[in-house]
This record gives sequence, C-alpha cells and structure tokens, in this order.
Amino acid sequence: MTEKQFETEMKKLESEGVISRSQFLQIMAAAGAFLALGTDKAYAAKSNAKGKIVIIGGGAAGISMAARLKRKLHNPDITIIDPSERQYYQPGFTLISGGVYTIDDVWKPQADCMPEGVRWVKDRVTLIHPTQNRVDTAKSGTIGYDFLVLCPGVKYDWSRIEGITHSTIGAGNAHTIYDPKGCQLTWKAMKEFSEKGGKGVFCDTYTKHKCGGAPKKVSLLTWDNCRKQGTLDNIDLHYYTASKQLYNVPHFTPRLEEIYRERNIPVDVNCRLKGIDTESKRAHFERVESDKDGNKVITPFTESYDFMHFMVPQCAPDFVRESGLSWTEGSLAADGWVMVDKHSLIHTTYNNIISLGDAAGIPTSKTSAAVAKQLPIAVDNLISLMEGRAPEAQYNGYAACPIVTDYGHVLMAEFDYEKKAQISFPLSLLDMSKEQWVAWLLKVYALKPIYFNLMLKGLY
Ligand SMILES: Cc1cc2nc3c(=O)[nH]c(=O)nc-3n(C[C@H](O)[C@H](O)[C@H](O)COP(=O)(O)OP(=O)(O)OC[C@H]3O[C@@H](n4cnc5c(N)ncnc54)[C@H](O)[C@@H]3O)c2cc1C
Repeated sequence: MTEKQFETEMKKLESEGVISRSQFLQIMAAAGAFLALGTDKAYAAKSNAKGKIVIIGGGAAGISMAARLKRKLHNPDITIIDPSERQYYQPGFTLISGGVYTIDDVWKPQADCMPEGVRWVKDRVTLIHPTQNRVDTAKSGTIGYDFLVLCPGVKYDWSRIEGITHSTIGAGNAHTIYDPKGCQLTWKAMKEFSEKGGKGVFCDTYTKHKCGGAPKKVSLLTWDNCRKQGTLDNIDLHYYTASKQLYNVPHFTPRLEEIYRERNIPVDVNCRLKGIDTESKRAHFERVESDKDGNKVITPFTESYDFMHFMVPQCAPDFVRESGLSWTEGSLAADGWVMVDKHSLIHTTYNNIISLGDAAGIPTSKTSAAVAKQLPIAVDNLISLMEGRAPEAQYNGYAACPIVTDYGHVLMAEFDYEKKAQISFPLSLLDMSKEQWVAWLLKVYALKPIYFNLMLKGLY
C-alpha cells in the first residue's frame, strides 16, 4: 500500500465526517511509516510461470493470496475452495463487543471479495492427497493441483469446554466474541453488566489461538464501560490466563500489567478453563503448575460470575491432520497445525505446498497483521517454486496485536519471532510501549478499509 492510497482512504473518512481535519492530520503524521509497508513495487515484474494453483480457504490469507498471485503472474490459473457466503473482518468482532461497530460493518458477500478470474468452488475440503496432488471436497468431487496453498484458518474445539456449545453461546451470561453472533451477544451483556455491576470473569485458553489480545480487550472495555456508567465501585473483575504471564512481549508487557493493576483487575496465571455451569453461573478452572521437582500439579477451583467472557480452545481443521500434513513432534504437534518452515512457509515434506495464516504451524501470533506480512513471502516463494528456482523470501514472524485499552486508546503491540518490538510508527513521535490515541484511530477507522479495499485486493 502506498502512502497516497492510505491518504485517499483517510480523506474519504474525513469528507464523510467520520474523522475531523485535525484527526486526519494526526493520523497522517503518525501512521506514515506503519502504512508504508506496502509492496506495490513488487508488482513491477510479472512471471511467466505456469501451473494450477489451488487455495484452500478464502479468508484473510486465501483471498489476498489469490489477488496478489493474479497481479504477479501473466497466466494465473487459480482455484479457491471455500464454503462461506460471507467474508468477515474478524478483528472487528472486538469492536462489536464494545458497541463501536455493528455486525453489518464487518462483513461483505464472499462473491464480492473473490478476485476476478479466480475460480471459486463453494465447497468444503474433506481430505488432501499430497502424494497424488489432489484434494477431495464434500460435494464437488476431487480437484487436482500443481501447487497448493493451505489456509483454512482454525477449528474451534468446543468439545474441550464442558457445559457450553457453539449453539448455546451466551447461555448463563457466558460469552465469547470468537463468533459473529457471540460478539453481538457480548455487547448486550457487557452493557447490562456495566449498568448494574457484579462479578466479571475473563479468560483465554491453553491452545494456540487467534489474536491473544482479544480477551484482554473485552476485559478492559468492560472496565471502561463501568467507568462510563459510574459503577466501578460495584464491580469485581478477574482475568485468568492459561499462560505463565499476562503478555510475553517485553516492550509492551510492563504497561499492560500496570493497566490491570491500576484498574484493580487481578491476573491469575497458569489457569485453564475446563467447563462452565451455565445454570449456577460457575466457571470451573484448573491451575496447572510444576512443583520443585518439575512434576505437574493440577489444582481445580471454581469461580462464580455474573458476566463471563471465555475463549474456545483452537486447533487446525481435522482434514489437515487426517491428510498427514501436521506437525507430529514439538510444541505445535498437539493441535494439528500445518508443518511448514517458519521462514519460507513451505511444507517441510511436500515442497509444492505453502501454508500461511492461522492454520500454519509457526510460532507467531495468529493475526491478520501477521498474514499481511506473510503474503509477500508466500507469493514470492510460490512463484520461485513454480519457476524451478530456490525460494529465498524469509518471514521474520512479524505480528501485530492492537490491544484496545479503553474507548480512545490502543496499545499497538508489534513484534517478531524473537518477541522483539517491531515498531512501525516513528519512535520520535510517540512512545508505542504505551497506549496511544492515534493507534485507536487506526484500529477503528483505518484497518477495516485497508482490509477490504487493499489487502483482499492484493494491494497491501
Ligand atoms: C475475535 C477476533 C479478534 C481478532 N482481532 C484481531 C486483531 O485485532 N488484529 C489482527 O491482525 N487479527 C485479529 N484477529 C485474527 C484474524 O482475524 C485472523 O488471524 C485472520 O483472519 C486469519 O486469516 P486466515 O485466512 O488464516 O483464516 P480465516 O480468515 O479465518 O479464513 C479461513 C477460511 O477457510 C475456510 N475454510 C475452513 N475450513 C475449510 C475447508 N474444510 N475447506 C475449505 N475452506 C475452509 C473458512 O470458511 C474461511 O473462509 C482476530 C480474530 C478474532 C476471531
């Protein structure tokens, strides 16, 4: 994306009255570097490489990948297999849960997002035969490929939480924003809770998961709603994380922990949600620790709540593991994530398969910001493979998580595989280890149009 394109987007928002002139100027000043990440120059040279490319999954990664490949290949032959009718901008789910967006702000018909000239098979993949270069679908038979791009996202594994299912989301005032209906119900419940007060329980999960910041954002927005309603004296909020600490990117952790301390929200670590009794509004947790000899010690405990937000454990879709494409050893083996090299994004056994996005078994944060940085790498390496050259592009693990800390501020956490901060904003202008208003403006006004108008079109 060029700065010019970003400026045009922002000018549109200004002319529509969404942001003021001074907001426009501040965004332009502070966001220059952040948004100069685009890769337009990369489209100068097109490749004559040929081959049938099949992309499994038409979400953030799949559609953007197809759009980029179309721009880089003279003769693209691209098929996307995806059953969904809707393309959701999932990072907007948090803002729905905080009453900033409505559901209609965050989706477009999938048909409108498909790049022109790309074949769309509206179906679900059931199995891949990597030694035969073909995939099975639920209704459309077998589809062959020369090169496969695997980006089917995550599966939410509801079976790992007792007492609540996808169809009973919201029962007993227990909510999750990891679902289009769930994030709407969360806003209703958050609003009611902040008017009355009570006990609020928030937690994440122990598997690798999308946007680790999202459950924190829900707890912090709940607090801020209570502040606005004047009910802070009537609330008792508690955050449980399955990790060893609240956040593990050193540049951002101190301020985030400080915010929880300032707001009197205790954070308990090493706690896994096991189940929810929605009748009695009680959440069952396990504290998983090690004793001095390194033996695992599990202590169950129960918390009652009036309002709860939880995260469902996540894994790769079943067909990935059933197709023999998952990690079988190491920390990523448990949940079926695709076995790719973390720098080249190429499958470690089958070098005509590339995986990116949430399904990829790489040790980074599962975010669309990470997808944006994986895209040019995946495209370059795929084209190298198609041309018979050695793939050279390397992904450094960049991911970003805009942690909404209140209505008006976002802690823009950006980092790489080494958990080193990767600040895109000019440091001299702002201290990005702290929450900033301009990052809120980016989150609320800029990132969604960037997603639909630029990223999905292969321009960002
Ligand atoms: C609540 C929430 C908050 C988030 N907040 C942020 C944020 O603030 N910042 C950020 O950068 N990211 C955020 N994310 C994460 C971001 O949305 C994901 O990382 C991103 O969408 C991943 O892209 P993907 O293409 O890998 O997966 P998805 O976009 O989920 O797409 C996967 C696609 O695969 C398809 N599919 C699944 N199974 C099959 C099958 N068997 N056959 C064919 N197709 C299949 C699905 O229909 C879907 O279209 C958030 C996500 C959530 C849920």
